Amino acid sequence: MTFTLQPRWLVALLALSSMSPHTAAFQSDLQQQPFRISSTTQPLGPTTYGKAQRVAVIGAGAAGSSTAYHLQQYAANATIPLDITIFEASSRVGGRTTTVNALDDPRYPAELGASIFVSVNHILVDAAEEFDLEALEAGAARPSESKYEIGIWDGKEFVYKSMNDDLGFLNLVKLFWRYGLAPLKTQRLMKSTVAKFLKMYDEPEFPWKSLTDMVSRVGLLDTTASTGWQFLKSNGVGEKFGNEIIQASTRVNYGQNLGLIHGLETMVCMATDGAMAVEGGNWRIFDGMVKKSRAHLRLNTSVEEITRLEEGGYQLSLSKKERHGVRTQTEDRFDSIVLAAPFQYTGIKVSPALPHQPDEIPYVTLYVTLLVSPHRLSPKFFSTPTSPLADQDFDSIPEIVITTLPAGLDLGSSPEGVGPTKFWSVSTLRSIPVNGSAQYLYKIFSPQPMNATFLSRLLDFSVEAKEDGNDSVDNVDKRHISWSYEKKWHSYPYEYPRVTFEDLNLDAKGLWYTSGIESFISTMETSALMGKNVAKLIVNELVEKSGSDLN
Ligand SMILES: Cc1cc2nc3c(=O)[nH]c(=O)nc-3n(C[C@H](O)[C@H](O)[C@H](O)COP(=O)(O)OP(=O)(O)OC[C@H]3O[C@@H](n4cnc5c(N)ncnc54)[C@H](O)[C@@H]3O)c2cc1C
Repeated sequence: MTFTLQPRWLVALLALSSMSPHTAAFQSDLQQQPFRISSTTQPLGPTTYGKAQRVAVIGAGAAGSSTAYHLQQYAANATIPLDITIFEASSRVGGRTTTVNALDDPRYPAELGASIFVSVNHILVDAAEEFDLEALEAGAARPSESKYEIGIWDGKEFVYKSMNDDLGFLNLVKLFWRYGLAPLKTQRLMKSTVAKFLKMYDEPEFPWKSLTDMVSRVGLLDTTASTGWQFLKSNGVGEKFGNEIIQASTRVNYGQNLGLIHGLETMVCMATDGAMAVEGGNWRIFDGMVKKSRAHLRLNTSVEEITRLEEGGYQLSLSKKERHGVRTQTEDRFDSIVLAAPFQYTGIKVSPALPHQPDEIPYVTLYVTLLVSPHRLSPKFFSTPTSPLADQDFDSIPEIVITTLPAGLDLGSSPEGVGPTKFWSVSTLRSIPVNGSAQYLYKIFSPQPMNATFLSRLLDFSVEAKEDGNDSVDNVDKRHISWSYEKKWHSYPYEYPRVTFEDLNLDAKGLWYTSGIESFISTMETSALMGKNVAKLIVNELVEKSGSDLN
């Protein structure tokens, strides 16, 4: 991890999950065709120890793709024959890493889910390099028309605004003037936390069999056991910086305030050095992993039931979506299963029941709205008695508005934490030429769906009230919103403080689970790390077993 205090550091600090990749590329089902699709068993690599072990990976998101990719590598190195199949319920690879094309035009891809990773994310950075993908600085396409890049809005006023790049030095001066040494203290705290986290990647910690034990061994228990506020206060970080800068960051990244989110995830929000995104969409990293794994990829195929067989191994009941909504049911047998999706959302039944089923954990409901409009963010919307309209013009409204709670309002650990701003963030991702004039692509994060009335205020246009009371964004005249796309996510867990984490192995045999890591840290990288860890544990077991079989 290298973190240098550059003039742009606040920008990087806040260049959070609302950025878009730089230039065009095209994500389609066609591009996501599997490398090889087959329903037969095809051992990979030399069959030194006989018949190939069949491993099923359920889910082709960051965790599942990484599991398959690393399984293939570790097995090949150990000359263990493996036959890997990935089952993915949807029609594409990537899971919560998904890209859509604004205006349905492949020149304007925008991340709908996970949008940035950072230089310390070694698995993603290395994979992007291996697959020859271009990683661009996050937010590189932003129009930079306003005087301000990022503003922190508390519902009454902008408590902080950072100016555009060329004025980075002034940003720094302003920052230290307002917050004293808190930024430096936070940076030091973040660095020491990241150093502990990175121990998870290497021996002797890697691979770990229990996340709970590993967290304790690397010295991160105090960070996961306390709320963000407790952690910052015990490390001497001032309240003003916490409320205005750090909490704005936990809100845009995780939809949670410092009274709820644990200290470790709080530090993750501050580790933004080298924020980047893959040109054409971050999903391409996972697509590359799936292809490299040479696994059989079964898209549109949901696993409905896992039957634990008495004689060992597992039978999967599968449901494949065919054309015209028809579904076909099949079954298939495997030696090991990696369940790479939050169990509570998979709809999978396990029989006989597990001794301990993964706990259901509350996830944040997040609406992501992408929209294209000729209108800029309205100065009127951001004018209040404490921030009068006379002081505002279009250029004084930052292109990225993230939010915090007003000073003195503490919503504690309430999951309904958005407060007076009603939205988590609104970002201007890029400008797009439409019929000869510029329009803007916006991304909004909110706990409730966007509606026409709110958007008409945010972008200052008039809407006629519909007789049927329909206030949906789709009903807005195309002159005001030329394109929009909404997605409701179960985005990430509410990261309540905790000291124990879900087991990796669910039955002390061959049934593995990756999503327990999301209560620790929920990012593409950590899901990929968990996939890599599980892959190593599986191959280690097979190596041990093959050794004893030979003896
Ligand atoms: C809006 C948003 C913004 C985010 N921003 C960032 C960010 O900027 N940076 C970052 O690092 N992280 C970000 N995250 C978090 C990140 O996306 C997740 O932590 C990570 O992608 C989780 O990957 P996963 O593989 O564990 O799970 P998922 O991506 O959820 O993958 C699980 C897969 O399993 C499939 N599946 C489920 N059930 C079944 C079944 N029964 N049979 C077959 N398949 C099944 C699903 O279809 C899915 O494809 C963001 C998330 C969201 C929603």
